[in-house]
Amino acid sequence: MYKILFIGLGKMGFPMAGYLSHQHDVYVYNRTKSKSETWRKKYSGQVLDSLSNDKNKFDFIITCVGNDNDLREVTSLENGCLNCIDQNTILIDHSTVSPKVVREIYKKLHELGAGFLDAPVSGGQEGAEKGKLSIMVGGSEETFNSSKEILKSYGTKIKYMGKSGSGQLTKITNQICIAGILQGLSESIYFMKQTELKPNDVFEVISSGGAQSWQMDNRFMTMVKGEFDFGFTVDHMRKDLSIAFQEAEKNGVTLEVTKIVDNFYAEIQKLGGNKLDTSSLVKRLTK
Ligand code: NAP
Repeated sequence: MYKILFIGLGKMGFPMAGYLSHQHDVYVYNRTKSKSETWRKKYSGQVLDSLSNDKNKFDFIITCVGNDNDLREVTSLENGCLNCIDQNTILIDHSTVSPKVVREIYKKLHELGAGFLDAPVSGGQEGAEKGKLSIMVGGSEETFNSSKEILKSYGTKIKYMGKSGSGQLTKITNQICIAGILQGLSESIYFMKQTELKPNDVFEVISSGGAQSWQMDNRFMTMVKGEFDFGFTVDHMRKDLSIAFQEAEKNGVTLEVTKIVDNFYAEIQKLGGNKLDTSSLVKRLTK
């Protein structure tokens, strides 16, 4: 049994920390404290009021926060969790953030003698709730091997990708795929709706053929019904795509379709859809 601090109880972190609590001694911390209280009512564990005043030392500290600034804050000297780290601690970050930030944190923790893995996830809110995430990991292989047991608590595909930042580079590759797939799904649903085809029948047959994807399996029918109040937000997607464009520029790569889809997401934000699921891309066409 490990002593674990989990920081960030959002759509993803809330159930992930829950899985850990079945086997480990879990402490949780979230910026908005009411979420920690809700978590404690559902799972067994302890709530921290602040990170910087805490005197506990942890075997693992796991973060699943929003963006670069959030991760910098929870790992900063002033307000972050560095008091809770000793030479045996491993920090695992599951947020999607820039490779630059995770490399900075890797260096900082390495200097303190602690381990750090960038371990972004894929599989959505559903994957987190079912404990079936794909986890792509960067950092030292030794630290990865020491962390596998923890990652198995909510991951079914766990893969070491290489040195620090490689997890985030893999996640960017994933997000570029998803942007194109969701625009394709949006256009196919828009087309289908102009015909007399029955959506259930179309879904049944094409989701068993060459067009099948996670997005089709999980989002086709909710897109048809216009349900978007769940899942992975448009704001998070635009954050991820901005990281993709920065990294693409560094590598001399042009992401033509991804740029178009990013502009479509900006239109969804203008319609007030910042917190809607990314499948709300179809709203531009069916509004
Ligand atoms: P979310 O619902 O916005 O949750 C983020 C959580 O982090 C919130 O509870 C937030 O607290 C907390 N937080 C942020 N900054 C903090 C700080 N400085 N101190 C303490 N807590 C802090 O986001 P999510 O959907 O769970 O996603 C989390 C990360 O995973 C993101 O990087 C996202 O891109 C990635 N991701 C998400 C999905 C998905 O389907 N949702 C899938 C794969 C990857 P508050 O309660 O105060 O806001």
